[in-house]
Parts: sequence; structure tokens; C-alpha cells
Amino acid sequence: MTVAERPNLLDLNPAELSAFCQSLGEKSYRGRQIAVWLFRRGVLDYEEMTDISKTSRRKLSEASRLYRPQALEVTEDEEACKILWALEDGRHVESVLIRERGHLTLCLSSQVGCALGCRFCRTGTMGFIRNLTVAEIVGQVIGAKDFVREGESLTNLVFMGMGEPLLNRENVMKSLDIITDSDLLAVARKRISLSTVGIVPEMPRLAQGPDIGLTISLSAPSDALRDEIMPVNKKYPLAELKKALAVWPLPRGRRITIAYVLLKGVNDSPKEAAALSRFVAGLKIKINLIPFNPWPDAPFEAPLRDTVERFREALVARHHTVIVRWSKGGKVSAACGQLAATRKKEHGLAAAGD
Ligand code: SF4
Repeated sequence: MTVAERPNLLDLNPAELSAFCQSLGEKSYRGRQIAVWLFRRGVLDYEEMTDISKTSRRKLSEASRLYRPQALEVTEDEEACKILWALEDGRHVESVLIRERGHLTLCLSSQVGCALGCRFCRTGTMGFIRNLTVAEIVGQVIGAKDFVREGESLTNLVFMGMGEPLLNRENVMKSLDIITDSDLLAVARKRISLSTVGIVPEMPRLAQGPDIGLTISLSAPSDALRDEIMPVNKKYPLAELKKALAVWPLPRGRRITIAYVLLKGVNDSPKEAAALSRFVAGLKIKINLIPFNPWPDAPFEAPLRDTVERFREALVARHHTVIVRWSKGGKVSAACGQLAATRKKEHGLAAAGD
């Protein structure tokens, strides 16, 4: 077996690591010891696992490998830090650390590219390349800690980067087990949110995992408009999405977030605000309005400030909780919908993995 064919231990959760250790004739508790080295301490060298005997370390190193993405390029401004990760197969993905009102949020990617082609999203222009592995998802969290400044700590995680997490649900859910494990990355479930366009058949399965926050990327309140700007709507139209949201198991005091990207002259009129209000009627929700962040050759423009304010007021008048998210990271192309794994040295999308 070549090194590349050996299992990557960072793809395994603690139970799988225990089973792997047993398959090598090791005690099962070794699995948890290794998990702590890999996920909590960020070690990538068997020799540093000093509570494991030399013989066992050699056995492990001959039967497995250790890999997670490596930071290739970091672009920072005062409010965001975009990290471009090099993956094992030469592809790239991005994650973004966002500093806002005392919180430090890491926005994670779940796929290289995306098949869904939402027209306001730069990742959508790349097409789908592949799903990220567990090591590549969890590795973004471990690696991003290197860019946390002194006195700061990572407070929140959002699956809102490149890709549709529910089309990589198994790896995302396995990663969540590791991320929320109190011995490992120990991120509180209530501090994690997953954003989806609403892959309806996957939602009940996600609901069986840890009770994290759910964000629905909606951006259009009618099927006709959503079909146009988010083609996935043709497969899972709004009525089906609403049924799935109505049975989503919300812990007490929590609400589903409805994310609505405002596109100038497309979905930002009072008529759409009224239709959005009708769509969410009866659901426990709050609304995040995200003024569009243009990227090169984008087919839409940013809405005017006055229009955003009128849209917000129209929703508030209908008794909704509304937050306008003027995106962070626009200066480093790290704002919502702008990620395309583009290297500074290159132009366009050539570095998006091909
Ligand atoms: S918004 Fe999300 S689902 Fe839509 S194309 Fe972008 S990454 Fe894919």
C-alpha cells in the first residue's frame, strides 16, 4: 500500500480511531489519545504523540497517514482574514475569519466549487469539483487557529463558505461530531450554524445530528424569482421548503435564520418584502438581509442604502426581527458570496482547483 492509499487518521472520529487501533492489535483507548493529539493539539507528526509507545507509533505510521489542508495564502484587512488552503490533490478552498463586535467567527467551506449555481454567488460560477473530506473540513478549524490574534479566541463557526453543506452531509456531520466534542475542538453547538439553500430530503437527517443553528439562504420570496436566481428551487420549491422548516426541531428560544441577499432592482422592492413576510408566516425565524457584494463580472449590482432601509422597515412593520448584515471582508473579496479560491498572483478563477 502506498502512503497515499493509507487511511488519513484525520478523516476518522474517535470511535473509528479506536476501531482502527484495535485492527492493529492496539488497545481501543489509543483512539481517543490519538484524537486529542490530532484535533485538540493540532499535531501532524506521530513522533510528537509522546504518551504512545515508540513501537505503537511506528505501527501507526506504517499503517496510516496524517494530512490536513495547509494555508497557502492569507489576505487580511481590519475586519476579515481570508485563508486560501492548499488541498492534497492541488485544489484550493477558502475560509474566512470575521471579526465583529467582540466575536471571531470562522466561515467554513464544505465543497470545492458548488453544483447549484446560485447566480449571485461567485462559488457557483466554478461548478462542482468535489466534496471536502472530514480532514479538510475539520482541518480548516484547526489551521485557522494559527491566525487568531493574541487575546482573541474563536467564538463562532458557520458553514457558509464554498459549497452546499447538505450535499456533503455525511462528512459535514462527522466533522461536527469532532468539532463539538468537549475533549477535542470543543466548540459549543449553539455557536455553530449551517447555511443551506434548502436541500429538503437532507434536512431531517441533519436534524438528527447536534442541535446547531440553521440558516436558509432564501433570497427570493416567490418560485418564479427563486427559479431564476437559485436554480435549486426548481427541484425543491418554496412550498416544500416551508414544510421542512415547519417541522425543524428548534430548541427553546432559538429561531431559524432566513438569509436574503438583496440584489439591486431584482428582489429589493416593497412587494418582495411583503411576499417574504408571507412566506415566513407561522415560522420561528429572524431575517438577515445581506446587501449583495459585487465580484468581477457579477450579473447583479449592490442595492442602494435607501432601498435596503426601506426593505428592512417593511419587514419590521410586519413584526419581524431583521438584521442588515453589511458584509465584512469586502476589501479582501471574503464577503458573503465572493469566495472562489482565487490566488492573489492569478486572475479570474483559474486557481479554483483546475
Ligand atoms: S450560494 Fe451556496 S449553494 Fe448557492 S452556488 Fe453559492 S455555494 Fe453553492
